[in-house]
Amino acid sequence: MITRRNSVAVGLPTDEYVKLRKTIFTTIWNELDPLEQEIENTEKIPYDVVMPALKACGAFGLTTPREYGGSGLSIAQYLPILAEFAKIQGGIRAIVHVHNSFTHALSEIGNSEQKQEILPGAAIGEKSLAFALTEPGNGTGADLSTTARRDGDRYVINGRKWLITNSDIASHFLVIAKTAPKEVSAIIVPRDSSGLTISPLPETMGCKGGEHGELVFTDVRVPATGLVGAEGEGIAHLERALEISRVFIAACSLGTATRALELSLKYSKDRVTFGKPIAERQAIQRYLAEMAADVYALRGMLADIASKWDRECRVPAESSLVKQFGLEAVGRVTDRALLVHGGIGYTRMYPIERLYRDARLNWLEEGTPTIQYLVAARELLNGYTFDDAFDSVPQ
Ligand SMILES: Cc1cc2nc3c(=O)[nH]c(=O)nc-3n(C[C@H](O)[C@H](O)[C@H](O)COP(=O)(O)OP(=O)(O)OC[C@H]3O[C@@H](n4cnc5c(N)ncnc54)[C@H](O)[C@@H]3O)c2cc1C
Repeated sequence: MITRRNSVAVGLPTDEYVKLRKTIFTTIWNELDPLEQEIENTEKIPYDVVMPALKACGAFGLTTPREYGGSGLSIAQYLPILAEFAKIQGGIRAIVHVHNSFTHALSEIGNSEQKQEILPGAAIGEKSLAFALTEPGNGTGADLSTTARRDGDRYVINGRKWLITNSDIASHFLVIAKTAPKEVSAIIVPRDSSGLTISPLPETMGCKGGEHGELVFTDVRVPATGLVGAEGEGIAHLERALEISRVFIAACSLGTATRALELSLKYSKDRVTFGKPIAERQAIQRYLAEMAADVYALRGMLADIASKWDRECRVPAESSLVKQFGLEAVGRVTDRALLVHGGIGYTRMYPIERLYRDARLNWLEEGTPTIQYLVAARELLNGYTFDDAFDSVPQ
């Protein structure tokens, strides 16, 4: 069963896309990948190096529509680029993912004034919209405790949010708050709003170096023009934004899993025990084949979803299923990659231990497994069926 949506992504002409992709891949491997050890050791991203590199290669404008100065990539064009970022140090990947995910969301759910205010700057990395949903004292969705009370032409916001990625670099936050006891709304809050304090949280297990900070709102007065859509539409906007953002996380799982497989294939040929490369042992071959099956399956799911989304279809069940399958797949692949590498894989001599830690964020971003099961099962129980190439031939 297909639900249509309003499309914003038309995609870049192929020759321009090939050029952009080459430029970005060159930046990833020549300029950003060499920073891995520095970031892991210092737990800080050298923004003075990373931001100019990301700006210069066009990484901040990937999902911004072309009319606002971005590349306006289709989802099929964007996913392989995001996956490539997920092969290198995860803190850099997180910056790129959150920036592009929420500029994409704004381009779909914002009005023309909101887009005009943020998107041209976002396309060149001068502005960035972060997403502020999670709270320390409550669950998400209807359980939120952050409030936004209407006062004339302003909203007055009070509450706390935490674990907000890009809290150090965002120019704006898309804050999900209650505008009435049973009404959740989405409001754009400029970073420099009086009464908003932003502070870092302790360092993370993986995807190190970026900030996932805490926001405290104390009588923060923001223009009511920052309301996205109408009051009470917050949950719908949330679901809309997360639908494709969950697919983006699955693409990150694919990138990390692909790198772990590539490193394992190479290592298994190089490492000799008892006079033979371990690649010649059937047990290791089984690990490699299992890893490849996960990578192949995830690629196929993502290709199916990208083709649906770019044909303007909604993917409400697929997005949660691929997010869940992706994190399980990258979990299995990084586990097996550690086994292929033996003890040295547990050290920082190879990126395997870093990939293993980075991948664990994929369990949390855009919702834990319990919410993915809930969303997918709800859609299926309501009668959602897959419409895909598998049974498109006449029967
Ligand atoms: C590095 C990092 C970056 C992040 N970036 C962002 C960001 O940019 N913006 C943002 O808003 N959030 C962000 N998050 C937060 C992330 O989305 C949440 O941590 C995640 O969705 C889980 O929410 P929680 O931490 O409140 O866990 P909790 O809600 O406390 O959940 C704890 C456990 O209980 C389960 N659980 C909770 N409620 C229920 C229920 N009703 N039914 C069944 N099981 C339940 C959960 O599945 C989980 O297993 C980030 C988190 C991390 C670690």
